[in-house]
Amino acid sequence: MNEIKKLSLTSKVLIGMGLGIAVGLFINLSGLNFKGSFVNTYVVEGLFYVVGKLFINALKMLVVPLVFFSLLSGVCGIGNLNVLGRVGIKAFLLYILTTAIAIAVAITIATTFEIGHGMNLAADTNFTAQAAPPLTDVLINIIPTNPIEAMAQGQMLPLIFFTILLGVCIVMVGAKAKDIVAGIEVANEIMMKMVTIVMVVAPYAVFALIAKSMAELGIELLNHLADYVLVLVSALLVHLFFTLMIILKTFSGLSPRMFMRKIKEAQIFAFSTASSNATIPVTLRVITEKMGIDNSVASFTVPFGATINMDGTAIMQGVATVFIANIYGVELGLTGYLTVIMMSVLASIGTAGVPGVGLIMLSMVFYQVGLPVEGIGLILGVDRLMDMIRTAVNISGDAVVTAIVAKSEQKLDQKTYNDPLAGIFTQEHGLDIDQKDERELAKTIQSAQNRH
Ligand code: ASP
Repeated sequence: MNEIKKLSLTSKVLIGMGLGIAVGLFINLSGLNFKGSFVNTYVVEGLFYVVGKLFINALKMLVVPLVFFSLLSGVCGIGNLNVLGRVGIKAFLLYILTTAIAIAVAITIATTFEIGHGMNLAADTNFTAQAAPPLTDVLINIIPTNPIEAMAQGQMLPLIFFTILLGVCIVMVGAKAKDIVAGIEVANEIMMKMVTIVMVVAPYAVFALIAKSMAELGIELLNHLADYVLVLVSALLVHLFFTLMIILKTFSGLSPRMFMRKIKEAQIFAFSTASSNATIPVTLRVITEKMGIDNSVASFTVPFGATINMDGTAIMQGVATVFIANIYGVELGLTGYLTVIMMSVLASIGTAGVPGVGLIMLSMVFYQVGLPVEGIGLILGVDRLMDMIRTAVNISGDAVVTAIVAKSEQKLDQKTYNDPLAGIFTQEHGLDIDQKDERELAKTIQSAQNRH
């Protein structure tokens, strides 16, 4: 019993995920999940749905205040506009670079395997394309006319802009603002405690989320689209295990093995929620506590990456474009593929990391290269599962770039990064909220009060 209690959160979440896959697949394959059945009404659409949704709501509830306070304390912590600008430019360039490489590799793999040639699939006619926001609007909206409204709607880029500006002004006010800075630090810690509390129920929630997705997944559809699924998953894995790890090693010298070991926790949450945005609290926790990256860098690059950096989504777009072009017998040629690369990179900047947004971006790409947008209906059936996998790749890309930027700015504690046990929390101290964490919190407030 004691041993079970001591399991790390990641191990427990992994167990939840494994059980979720097993139970979900059982429900799916046994045919119990038909509309109106007891299992469908009370278990899949009842229990699993409610537990999963509650957890996602809790994560989303944390995102805006967490980004606001951690970014604010990060900017105040850097306290130097040059450094801030440098971090921003490095992160932006690396995000664009990794996305462009991701999609180029995806197109190369997909064309090599000629997926979709000679296939004859019927499109799901229920699919209606939604428009992605035009780039001009994305740019204009970076400056919010009403920051509270931007926060209320969870818009990441305007929130980041306003928060950085606020932080810069606090720094400029200087000594007079020291009480506010102390308050911001405490608020940031409070938000991190909230993440800890939410994480305690994570293994059960992940079980419910995965079991529901698997129970609903059409397994025959996977067979039907085997070529597409296989090539897409392979391209995603190549990017995760080779491209990103080579980039990490080359630019920072950090150990890819340690990186993979530590990022696992955030990947599981990305997989379960299919949302980079909802995963922000977990990514931030992993990056700061397990990898030893300073909050001043992570608080900016993580939410920024969740919005503008989507390597996995770009890969899906590359593979899907080749697949649909082959099915419809359209010859795209080099210009066509270059347009796809450019459009995917631009589209990823303008769209938030939420479930299914990849399809919206895909319709924009199809439209540009003259492919029939209804073609998306062909891959719709397997998109939820693909979304889960690509979201895990998306947040891994954010973390790689964050690590590189932090290392180059000497904002990464190598000892913590190389310590396999750093930041691991077991249920023992995960549940010990009232005593240990309460004392810690009281101490933080005390020292903040003593400072003035
Ligand atoms: N779900 C993905 C994310 O949140 C975006 C997508 O590919 O649909 O990163």
